[in-house]
Amino acid sequence: MPETSTAKPRASLAVGATNVAIAAEGLVKTYAVRGRKSGPVRALDGLSITVGRGTIFGLLGPNGAGKSTTIKILTTLARPDAGSAEIEGVDVLKRPDQVRRMIGVVAQHSGSDPMATGRENLILQGHLFGMRGPEVKARADELLARFGLTDAANRLVKTYSGGMQRRLDVALGLVHQPEILFLDEPTTGLDPEARTAMWQEINRLATGDGMTVLLTTHYMEEADRLADRLAIVDHGTVVAEGSPDALKGDLRGDAVHLDLPSGADVTRATAVLEGLPHVRDLRVTGRALSARSDDGASAVPGILAALERAGIGVAAVTVARPSLDDVYLRHTGHRYATNLDENEEPQS
Ligand code: ADP
Ligand code: MG
Repeated sequence: MPETSTAKPRASLAVGATNVAIAAEGLVKTYAVRGRKSGPVRALDGLSITVGRGTIFGLLGPNGAGKSTTIKILTTLARPDAGSAEIEGVDVLKRPDQVRRMIGVVAQHSGSDPMATGRENLILQGHLFGMRGPEVKARADELLARFGLTDAANRLVKTYSGGMQRRLDVALGLVHQPEILFLDEPTTGLDPEARTAMWQEINRLATGDGMTVLLTTHYMEEADRLADRLAIVDHGTVVAEGSPDALKGDLRGDAVHLDLPSGADVTRATAVLEGLPHVRDLRVTGRALSARSDDGASAVPGILAALERAGIGVAAVTVARPSLDDVYLRHTGHRYATNLDENEEPQS
């Protein structure tokens, strides 16, 4: 059984907050990159998060935001240059062995052996955690069943679909029955069906088993659907934090998005919109203009008329309730870019 620390040290980061499972404070991490003229990469720039026990917490951010670096520090695989972190009140830097017994980690890139079967992978993982004999076999079978892999248990992992491989990865992270599970981009690259199945599994871990789950994702929808709370990470720091509904609710009114046709005078269009009374928080990305309005549907005719008077056509206009996309835009000043699947970050 993993050792738990029910008696939290008094000097915990989140003093008095006994329901805190993960706390990170002011994490800074730079990577020296040979030949990089602008100096080292600042992967984390003072990142802080607090994760409640038994909740699903999402770290949402684009490629390169610092999500994997955060996971690596919290799971004792990397050391920060500054800052501190605790898992169940245990310092990750001072007592990494104790932390490792409490956590399961599913890395961004699969750690399973493709030339072994699913069952063999699970049993080997159990051995790494000191499990032996019937205990490890029973645990492997239990996890194979839970993740719908019983029929594929004796097939080589290299014959698995992407969704099956990822489910096995999660199962591998659970072999030693950790209290806290770290999932780094659990559904990246999966098709929609496999993604939905994975969401159900992750949900069950928290709601059914009472686990604490910290997951990273660059999919807004994933964070929106899964996370009890989320932190939007940009350039190594948290720019907004809260429940998805609270974050969206902070944005009053509707989001109005306008796409201008190519060749349109964006500067002029911007000036026109800025002059309208019911339009606020205007952001411009290329030929896309986004703004907020208390009642978007009734504001649109006025917006279009004003643009037309200025001789500016509009290619498309949409009005929507605020999305996490709008939350991101509001807090970072730029639109969320998700051209990520074909643009993976370097492995480390
Ligand atoms: P994310 O997981 O959000 O995509 P990462 O934490 O992987 O972000 O990376 C944050 C930044 O640090 C990126 O600019 C990335 O290129 C850089 N980085 C990450 N790992 C290394 C490494 N081992 N060496 C050099 N740079 C790295
Ligand atoms: Mg990553």
